[in-house]
Amino acid sequence: MAVIDLRSDTLTRPTPGMLEAMTKAPVGDDVYDEDPTVHELESRVAELFGHEAALYCVTGSLSNQLGIRMLVEPGEEVLCDVQAHIVRAEMGGHAAIGQVTTRTFSSPTGLAEADRIAELIAVGGGPYHVTTAAVAIENTLNYAGGKIQPYENLAEISELCQSYGVKRHLDGARLWNAHIATGVPLEAFGALYDTISVCFSKGLGAPVGSVLVSSADNIARARIVRKRMGAGWRQAGVLAAAALYALEHQLGRLADDHLAARAFAEEVAALAPSAITPDDVETNIVVLDTGDYDAREVLDSAAGQDVRVSQLGPRTLRAVAHLGVDEADCRAAGKILGSLLA
Ligand SMILES: *Cc1c(COP(=O)(O)O)cnc(C)c1O
Repeated sequence: MAVIDLRSDTLTRPTPGMLEAMTKAPVGDDVYDEDPTVHELESRVAELFGHEAALYCVTGSLSNQLGIRMLVEPGEEVLCDVQAHIVRAEMGGHAAIGQVTTRTFSSPTGLAEADRIAELIAVGGGPYHVTTAAVAIENTLNYAGGKIQPYENLAEISELCQSYGVKRHLDGARLWNAHIATGVPLEAFGALYDTISVCFSKGLGAPVGSVLVSSADNIARARIVRKRMGAGWRQAGVLAAAALYALEHQLGRLADDHLAARAFAEEVAALAPSAITPDDVETNIVVLDTGDYDAREVLDSAAGQDVRVSQLGPRTLRAVAHLGVDEADCRAAGKILGSLLA
């Protein structure tokens, strides 16, 4: 049996159609701002979100860092979820490079709430307190199991920020999944944020790349900071072509990933009901509670049966559906995890 690899939706390989699009892409030097395929991607994505401009970047960590840096001055803070990728999985870059400090709010249900954020916002603290310059929201929230942030919550948080003059960043690495699962238009999300980062290397299946969306002024400044960080790139259109192809051909199919993740959860729950409630699975990510079992041991046993998942904590595992697996794979994998957790 082939290995069923559910560790991440970053594991996808470019499809034949995508590779063909990459080889045919017209290219130029993007540091000179002369790559037509990069231009096409940037203007297409900016338009999707109803913003003025966009910047194609090598990773989401970079586009998050640039976006937040455009909103927060050194020594100021950004508020984010305690589980957020920006504070847990970007190697401290916002502090180490951007000189931005962070305070976190927790959301036990995985849903960001305006009330909790309101308790933390600090503006006008004079020379005594760090100034809150921005709030960052992650949608879907990866470590909470791909939770979709309800649009009403997001709108309320956005309004709260505006009432304090605090800027708004969206880590939308998997916003595509929220969009496909809920039908909320991308432009409606765009209206709530000053800067948005979206990834093409996750469920959309491109090999590389994220896009930062914002005002023309912010994007012009971000372009300079990106070059300073050594992340200017030349004929990046070869890669941008993959992202354009993904938008065109691989966005709608995210619904299949959501069904496959749900099928995986159902199979696990049939044998180990305390590990997962299938109704909690909203997109392509499933977080399993290993209960009395050590997550690492379960992970190793699953790997011994050709199913790979990743570990989130001492008692939690993560499985992610993606373009490289189908519903039958996910059901087979779910049976194996279910029997290990029963
Ligand atoms: C993957 C991811 C990113 C970006 O990660 P890179 O590996 O730097 O591209 C950002 N936010 C979230 C929530 C992610 O899952």
